[in-house]
Amino acid sequence: MISASTKLTAVIGNPIGHSLSPLLHNEIFLREDVDAVMLAFQNADINELVSAMRALPVHLIAVTLPHKESIISLLDEVDEKALAIGSVNTVINTDGKLKGYNTDVVGIAVALKDATLKGKSVLIFGAGGAARAVAYHMKECGAKIHSYDRTFKKAQTLCEKFGGMALELAALNGTQFDVIVNATPVGLHPNTDATPVSKDIIRKGSVVFDLVYNPLETRLMREATEKGAQAISGLTMLVEQALEQERLWLGREIGNAPYYVLLERELNKQHRP
Ligand code: NAP
Repeated sequence: MISASTKLTAVIGNPIGHSLSPLLHNEIFLREDVDAVMLAFQNADINELVSAMRALPVHLIAVTLPHKESIISLLDEVDEKALAIGSVNTVINTDGKLKGYNTDVVGIAVALKDATLKGKSVLIFGAGGAARAVAYHMKECGAKIHSYDRTFKKAQTLCEKFGGMALELAALNGTQFDVIVNATPVGLHPNTDATPVSKDIIRKGSVVFDLVYNPLETRLMREATEKGAQAISGLTMLVEQALEQERLWLGREIGNAPYYVLLERELNKQHRP
């Protein structure tokens, strides 16, 4: 029940209409008996959003595109990992002091927890904020990073920061990797026929991790399964990064609950004719 003591939390971005964060976080609040509510706020201006978050105040802020980088300079403190990645997806407001974190990297670690990464050859497709969180994790795990981005300079910059080799498109064909990660929106609904890499470069026994979670099974994942690779959906990352946001805010563990089922049901509902 919402009352005068209910704490406000928010997801901020532009656009924000597609965000599953309110559904997921409000379900966590219900199951964990937390007197809080999450609402979505859309604004292209990050300065206005941060001023509003301070004024209201908003206690936990989930940050999404396009503000994950631009919010950094507006915060009072940024966690070391988030600074290294150059991307903040979580802000905790403690008595007016805003501290930024990156929980995407925790979601990535959980999604890849069963994959051997040390010494393995990894292709990261895309070089934006999510790709940098993947690269951070790969570096931590001792993987050999290969970066591809349609803007070659961005792949080079990622490699300067995390180590690894920037590849041109021609070098992708004919090369096979132990792990392929799609960190671009290629394959995202409604462009579900698109796929980031040719299935020829997917090797049997390799791991293919698609950060896209809508649809739940992308063309990349389908082709990976056909080739005998292990396909991992972005849904794991989505749920786990949100659970980590709540752990950070509440300072305690979150119980097991069917959060995956909740989001799967919602995504399936969106695609029903
Ligand atoms: P971002 O910072 O905007 O980066 C987007 C990246 O995708 C850039 O490298 C961009 O290349 C590339 N790209 C965009 N459109 C492309 C296209 N049509 N063909 C080839 N490359 C393209 O976004 P982000 O935060 O890194 O997010 C990337 C993806 O990860 C999105 O699909 C997002 O939904 C997903 N994601 C999922 C989760 C999860 O929890 N599962 C969390 C975060 C992000 P240029 O730099 O050359 O433009």
